[in-house]
Amino acid sequence: MPKKFHTIKEVPLNNNCPECFNNEGLQLTFKQRFKETAFYKSLTQEVAHEIACKKCETTIYPIQWTDDIERVFDYQKKAFQPKSSSFKFKKIFWIIFVIIILGISGTAAFLFFKN
Ligand SMILES: [Zn+2]
Repeated sequence: MPKKFHTIKEVPLNNNCPECFNNEGLQLTFKQRFKETAFYKSLTQEVAHEIACKKCETTIYPIQWTDDIERVFDYQKKAFQPKSSSFKFKKIFWIIFVIIILGISGTAAFLFFKN
């Protein structure tokens, strides 16, 4: 299953893009991993980040980062507060849960009252 990420924070950077040298296009994005199954959704503490340039629409990989970009990145990374984890069952889980509970209590009532 491919990992899914939610964008938590986007920070525009004033650095020059290593690809097109524009200084208005770079953007640092912080994302948190999000798990979704048929029954639940949950936000994890796994953080991913990406720098991309909006002007030339290129992802700037760490190998291309200049010292300046690295400095700004370190600073932003320290300032970043991940969202706390969350866990939420989907509606289908509760529907099945209720059906099971009703089934169990129905069976129990049947056994109890059958004499
Ligand atoms: Zn660029």
